[in-house]
Amino acid sequence: SGLRSFARNGNSDPMASVDLDKILSETLEMCFERFKHGEIALQTTNTVTAKILCRESQISQVFLNLLNNAFDAVTENEVKEKWVRLQVEEDKTASGKIVIRIIDCGNGIPEEVAKKVLEPFFTTKETGKGTGLGLSISVGIIEDHNGRLYLDAKHPNTCFVIELPVGT
Ligand code: ADP
Ligand code: MG
Repeated sequence: SGLRSFARNGNSDPMASVDLDKILSETLEMCFERFKHGEIALQTTNTVTAKILCRESQISQVFLNLLNNAFDAVTENEVKEKWVRLQVEEDKTASGKIVIRIIDCGNGIPEEVAKKVLEPFFTTKETGKGTGLGLSISVGIIEDHNGRLYLDAKHPNTCFVIELPVGT
């Protein structure tokens, strides 16, 4: 685990049944220092113990992409108590589905921007600071895992949602 082996494994992991909690804790472990340094509280709630059938490094990559976007958004926002939340729960309406929300206290996403965030190469970041590929790649990965990734426009904060089927 850790950043180095994450980089080395790339996206070449085999499909395997992996504890979601393990993926999350190892991914968060990679982020803690950075968030701590940015004085952003990284809060997680997980009520699920489930395995998902996945390429682990790819799912980890998605979490990192979303957490990094949240980091950027929160860093730009001049609020006193900075936080990013990662919530994991079982879908109450459809069994066998896990819902992961990454929520941040950033400035939010204007409607005009929200329409485009999932498109490849769309970025609002300065040249050199964003490729505009993070979200589109993440959508591709989640769809390859028979899931869904979208922005929850109804949430009071910025909230990206990942839905994944429970594995065996
Ligand atoms: P990049 O981060 O390189 O710009 P992404 O595909 O990760 O590319 O994101 C595309 C755009 O979506 C960002 O430039 C930003 O405008 C918007 N975005 C993504 N996540 C957030 C967020 N948590 N808060 C505000 N805007 C966001
Ligand atoms: Mg990004």
